[in-house]
Amino acid sequence: MSEEMRWDIAQLVESTDPETIEAKLNEMVVEANGLAGKYRGKIRTLDAAGLLALLMAKDTFSLKYEGVSEYCSLRYSANSIDAVSKRLNEAVRQTGNKVGQALAFMEIELGDLLKANPSLVDDSKLDEYRHFIERIVRRIPHVMTEDLEKLTISKDQNGVSAWSQLQGDWLSTRRFKIMVDGVEKTMPYGEIISLYQSMDRALRQEANRVVYDGLGKDDIVWASAIRSVCADHMQMCEWRKYPSPMTQSLIDNDVEQEAIDVLMHTMESSVESYRRYLCLKAELMGLKKLGNWDITAPLPNMPEKKYTWEESKKEVVSAYKSFDPEWAEWVDEMYTHRHIDGEVRNGKRSGAFCATWLAGKSAWVLQSFNGQMGDVYTQAHELGHAVHAYMGGRYQKPSNYEIGSCIAETASVFGELLLTDRLLAEAKTRQEKQVILATVLDEFGMAAYQVSARIFFEQNMYESIKAGKFLDGETVSGLWTIERDKIYGDAVEWLPEMKWEWTMKPHYYIPNYRFYNYPYVYAQLFVFALYRLYKEQGIAFVPKMRALLAAGSSMSPVNLAKEMGFDVMKEDFWHKGIQQFDEFVDQLETTMKK
Ligand SMILES: [Zn+2]
Repeated sequence: MSEEMRWDIAQLVESTDPETIEAKLNEMVVEANGLAGKYRGKIRTLDAAGLLALLMAKDTFSLKYEGVSEYCSLRYSANSIDAVSKRLNEAVRQTGNKVGQALAFMEIELGDLLKANPSLVDDSKLDEYRHFIERIVRRIPHVMTEDLEKLTISKDQNGVSAWSQLQGDWLSTRRFKIMVDGVEKTMPYGEIISLYQSMDRALRQEANRVVYDGLGKDDIVWASAIRSVCADHMQMCEWRKYPSPMTQSLIDNDVEQEAIDVLMHTMESSVESYRRYLCLKAELMGLKKLGNWDITAPLPNMPEKKYTWEESKKEVVSAYKSFDPEWAEWVDEMYTHRHIDGEVRNGKRSGAFCATWLAGKSAWVLQSFNGQMGDVYTQAHELGHAVHAYMGGRYQKPSNYEIGSCIAETASVFGELLLTDRLLAEAKTRQEKQVILATVLDEFGMAAYQVSARIFFEQNMYESIKAGKFLDGETVSGLWTIERDKIYGDAVEWLPEMKWEWTMKPHYYIPNYRFYNYPYVYAQLFVFALYRLYKEQGIAFVPKMRALLAAGSSMSPVNLAKEMGFDVMKEDFWHKGIQQFDEFVDQLETTMKK
C-alpha cells in the first residue's frame, strides 16, 4: 500500500510528541476552569453584549483545542492497537469529561437567562447567534425544576437505561444454530446476520428464520422492555408538558411536526413506486416474488468491477466537478493533502466516517478501501461530508455548525447521486447499469420506505398505550406487521417469524431517543428532491445548494429549504424526491427490455 492512501494527521498539531499533546490537553482543562471561574453564577445577569462575548469565548475555546482533541481520537481510530494511541485516546476521553463537567453550568444558566429575558433572541447584537439562541428558548418550557431533573437522571439509571441494557445484553448473548456448507455452526447474533448478504439464497432465508424464531421465544423479555420504555416516555411527556410523544425528538432535530406529517404522508401515498421496484428486482433475480431475505440481497450472476485508488479518485473528483468546480478542487485537496485514510490494516476501526476540522476549514475521512464499487460510493459519500465541512468552516462559527440529522446527510447523499450519474454514463453493459441502479434503489428503499414502516409502528405503539391496550409480545408483533404491510403490500413474501423483527432494533430501547427514525427518511427524500430540482434547473441550482451548506446550523431545516425557495411544508416538494426515485426505476426497467 502506498503512502498516499494513509492520512497525515500530524497537520492537526504543532508537535506529535505524546508529552506535548498531554500538556496541551491539560491546558484545555485549565482554560475550561478559567471560563467557569469567569462566568459561573454570572450568566443570569448578562446583557446582549455580555452574552455575545460569552458565546464568542466558547467558540474560540472550541476552535483552539479542536486540533489536539481530533488528533488523539483520529489516531486511535486509525490504529487502536498502538500503545501511544491508546494512551492518548484515554487522555482525550478524560479531558472531554473534565471540560464537560466544568462547563455544564453554562447551559443551565443560559436557559435561566433566556427564560427571564426572552427578548434577547431579537437583539441585533446577537444576530449571528440567533438560531442557536432560539433552539435553547424552544427547550425552556419543557425543563423541570432542578430537583426533578436530578430525580429523573437517577430514576433513569435503574429504569429506562436498565431496560435498554437488558435488551442489548440479552441480544448479544443469544446463540443460533445453523448449517453452513453441510456443517452445523453456532453463532452469536453479530455473526449470523452477515449471512443475510450471502449469495446463497437458501442460506439467507434460513439465517433469517433461525434468528427470528430464536428471538420470538424470548418475547416476554423484549415486550417487557419495550412496554416499559414507551410507558416511561408517555409519563415523561406529561411531566415535561410535551403535547405529543414526538415533541422531544422534533425539538432535538430542530424541525416542525407539520413538515414531518407532510413527509410521512408523501411516503405512505407513494408506496406503489417502491413496490414496482421490488417486483423488477424479483424479475432480475429470476424470482416470481422477493422473499424478505432477498430485499437487500446482491443481484446474482453480475460482473464485479474493481477500482484502484487512482481510478476511484478520478471518478469521485469528476463527479463533484460536474456540479461545482470549486467543490471538485476541495475534494481533490482531500487526496493530495492526505486527509483520507483508505489503507486496509489491522487495528483500524471498521466502517467509514468523516470528521469535520473547522479550524482547518477542512475534514478527515477514514475508510477501508478494497476497490469494490461500494468503496467508491463510500468515498463519494464521506467526501460530501468533507465539502459540507469546507463550506461550514469558511462561513460559520462552531456554535452554528452543529448539523442535525435531517441535514447532515445532504452533501454526502447528493455526492452519491452525482457519482451514480457518472458511473451510469460510463457503464458499458446493461448488467453494469443494473448493479449501479440496484445499489442506489436498495439504499433509498431501506432508508426511506423501510424506516417509514418503523415510524408508523412507533406511532401505533403510543396510540395503543393511550387506548389502554396491554402490549404483550403478540400485540406488539401485530402492530409491527400491520405497519410493515402498509409499505410492502403484496410485493414481498415474509417468513412468519419476521413478526419478531422489532425485538432486535436497539433504537427502540435507547433511553430518551424516541422517534430516532424520521430524520433518515427526511434526509433521503430531501436529497432526492434536491437532485431532481438540480436536474430541472441546471446550473441555476448550484448557488442554492452552496448557500444551504454554507448556512450550517444557523437556520432550521425548514428555513434552510425556504432560503433555497422550497417549501418542505408542501407535498409538492417531497414529491420531487419520489419522481427522482421513479426515474431511477424507469432506467432500470429500460435495461431489462429485450
Ligand atoms: Zn454520512
